[in-house]
Amino acid sequence: MTEQIRVRFAPSPTGMLHIGNVRTAFITWLFAQANKGYFLLRIDDTDLERSKPEYEAAIYESLTWLGMSWDELAHQSKRLDRYAEVIEKLKADGRLYACYETPEELSLKRKSQLSQGMPPIYDRGALKLTAEQIAKYEAEGRKPHWRFLMKDEPIIWQDLIRGEVRFEGKDISDPVLIREDGSPLYHLCSVIDDADFGMTHIIRGEDHVSNTAAHLQMFDAIGFNRPQLAHLPLLSDPEGGKLSKRLGALSIIQLRDEVGLEPLSICSLLARLGTSDPIESFASHAPLIESFDISKFGRGTPKFDQEELLRLNSKLIHELDYSAAKIRLAQIGLEEVTEDFWNVVRPNLEKITDIKDWWTVANGPVTPVVNDNEFAAKAIELMPPAPWTPETWKEWTGAIKAETGRKGKELFMPLRQALTGMDHGPELGDLLPLIGPEKAKARLSKQAA
Ligand code: GLU
Repeated sequence: MTEQIRVRFAPSPTGMLHIGNVRTAFITWLFAQANKGYFLLRIDDTDLERSKPEYEAAIYESLTWLGMSWDELAHQSKRLDRYAEVIEKLKADGRLYACYETPEELSLKRKSQLSQGMPPIYDRGALKLTAEQIAKYEAEGRKPHWRFLMKDEPIIWQDLIRGEVRFEGKDISDPVLIREDGSPLYHLCSVIDDADFGMTHIIRGEDHVSNTAAHLQMFDAIGFNRPQLAHLPLLSDPEGGKLSKRLGALSIIQLRDEVGLEPLSICSLLARLGTSDPIESFASHAPLIESFDISKFGRGTPKFDQEELLRLNSKLIHELDYSAAKIRLAQIGLEEVTEDFWNVVRPNLEKITDIKDWWTVANGPVTPVVNDNEFAAKAIELMPPAPWTPETWKEWTGAIKAETGRKGKELFMPLRQALTGMDHGPELGDLLPLIGPEKAKARLSKQAA
């Protein structure tokens, strides 16, 4: 029997999840689903000062909204005893050593190395301290931080995305694993958890590549088989710059609540962006899981284009039938939208929230803008008889044009302003039957209706 695939997503609850972190989460989750594997959600909350319960809650909410679930949930803050055990072993094995430099001293060392054209690798000054110097520091009340002693040997792995990756141990600064106050840091906790939870693969952003080189030696030091690794290139904006503008900078919760996107438009984009497969919108996860293969992801930087996301979203909305739409409508406070209304307006929506404008215009109250009473009176006079259909607008404006000689903006704008109270908005042809003759007449007569 082949080994079950075990993967994790490990966010730090120090901020909101954005499109970039959720991409790692979703690809990892798809990998687990496609391989009938196990998916762990691990909350990396050892930074007590920056970790916040509201960020943690938003992680659950964001992932759940996107349709992901996890087989197990772990918190690093609850595993401190276990980390202490491993720390003892690493100290006993001589792989953790105490350092007494202050942050200022370290920064001076770094500056001096850089000014001499040398890489800012820790010089292991702490290993040269005499017993007297250590006693002096201790007497001054200095508390040590602890570093992992890297071995000077090649570190090589076959990355599922980057191919062979090679580092030399001597080129990597010994990472700090324990702070002055005794609390363990990310590198240590992450490696211990990855080992204890039996991770077979680690999928994360390429900003972690050099961390991985150190982590692999740490896996060896704690006696765990090295997992397989996949480092995803980070997303850029459409011009190839840092993803910080507009939609890319918004949290997933904002994309849901403020932009009004469908979860599956985000999932459809993230599953295929940066792969050789075409990006299409899918109304369920199943086809995304079925076509998932990590080897389809390339090394090139994928561009996140919000237009593409909106295009996928409008396609999904156009295909959303009423029973599915009802759930979303309830979430945006529009449970009263009827099936007929939904079917008329959905081809015009890019986002579900666009329906709010349509709903208000159709049902009122609208404060009409009428500047030309004579024209408005003429429009009332020429109103076609009920029932109104999608053809009524053409018929009506044709008659007004023939009678008044107005055309283009002169003809349409005063009607739009009277009927909707706005200068722009949904197509009036589709909207008119929803407004109906009664409200149209009232609004053209300057009554809010
Ligand atoms: N908490 C780390 C982060 O958010 C996890 C990185 C990893 O996947 O190991 O960057």
